[in-house]
Amino acid sequence: MKIRPEDFGAIVATDDPPALLFVDRALATELGLPHQERWDNPRGHLSAPTEVHLLLTRRCDAGCPRCYVNATPDGAQQPREEVFAWLSALAAQGVFHVALGGGESMLRDDLFAIADHARSVGLVPNLTTSGLGMTAELAAECRRFGQVNLSLDGLGETYRNSRGYDGAAIALHALDLLVAAGVPTGINFVVSRHTIGDLEATTAEIARRGGNEVELLRLKPTGRAGVSYPHDRLLPEQAASLLPRVVALIEQYPTVKMKVDCSFVPLLCATGPNPDTLAALGVVGCEAGNVLAAVSPEGAATACSFINDRLGSVAALTERWDDHPVLERWRSFHTTAPEPCASCPYRLVCKGGCKAVSKFYHHGDPFHPDPECPRVVAHREGRPFVTNPITLPAHV
Ligand code: SF4
Ligand code: SF4
Repeated sequence: MKIRPEDFGAIVATDDPPALLFVDRALATELGLPHQERWDNPRGHLSAPTEVHLLLTRRCDAGCPRCYVNATPDGAQQPREEVFAWLSALAAQGVFHVALGGGESMLRDDLFAIADHARSVGLVPNLTTSGLGMTAELAAECRRFGQVNLSLDGLGETYRNSRGYDGAAIALHALDLLVAAGVPTGINFVVSRHTIGDLEATTAEIARRGGNEVELLRLKPTGRAGVSYPHDRLLPEQAASLLPRVVALIEQYPTVKMKVDCSFVPLLCATGPNPDTLAALGVVGCEAGNVLAAVSPEGAATACSFINDRLGSVAALTERWDDHPVLERWRSFHTTAPEPCASCPYRLVCKGGCKAVSKFYHHGDPFHPDPECPRVVAHREGRPFVTNPITLPAHV
């Protein structure tokens, strides 16, 4: 068990079951934490990110037309010694998890050494991969990860149209190998206008094959995905259908954890959910520069892996974590956001929506209310926003 002091008390990391628990000061004290100086002088933000996304490489052979990092077969990456240094510094800062991705991290011949170094300094390494090249031997090596998620945005033709190659069967075969090796394995499903129709069939397939998680990610207009984004983003009626569909899947497949990423929050909030429902789904809004941060393949720290705001080196997340002016801008946006965020009942959970989307529509400036939020759309059009309520089962 690891315990990390915070303004509100502490975050406790448990191994079995693997969980991060946010506890108040009284419970933190009961758990043995002495009185903390930050309890008398709260900083207003976490003492470190809980998770840092490390983009280990810009290399990938797949050539997906909507790649967020413009990956190519000869893309950049840092030497392992440099990555080891990032991991050691982040661990010393108190980070719990690192999400290893790319590009295709499995193309690095030192990926497992990097994961081992993360473990040796007390970090839990998780991996995202396309599954290309997975073998039974590699799957067994993946036992060192806390969780492996395969990129799978639908089945058959849907995947082919989304990623430009016939990869669904490859990803599902990789999932079978990983599950057989005892690796906790799920999928990352990028939800777009073209893929959302496969949500139920894909979740059923993951459940049938023993996968443990379906994480739904809103498409972001970043990298090559920006080129066709206006034609790929969810239609309003599709966005409105998402929450009830996710809840139905939770009921139908209790062995599969359904997760919804931070960027979906403004779309979910349009249906007027009880904030407790969002908490039950593990939903948090834009937590860039607080709960989350990232490091690019070139070694640049960023508040979010979808924003190329280049805060400096990894030291921005360690030595400058408390006072970096750009990080402060990220953390405080929701406190000064204009209408309709200013009077929105979900402001504290949503935090103004996805800044990657805002940046796309506001000529590179991320600090605007999410332009696809239905409340923001109504405000822009000068009409009142009407919640489109949905009925959820009482226990959700
Ligand atoms: S109005 Fe702003 S805070 Fe409210 S849901 Fe929309 S983007 Fe989020
Ligand atoms: S900008 Fe914020 S909401 Fe969007 S992906 Fe990054 S952390 Fe999530």
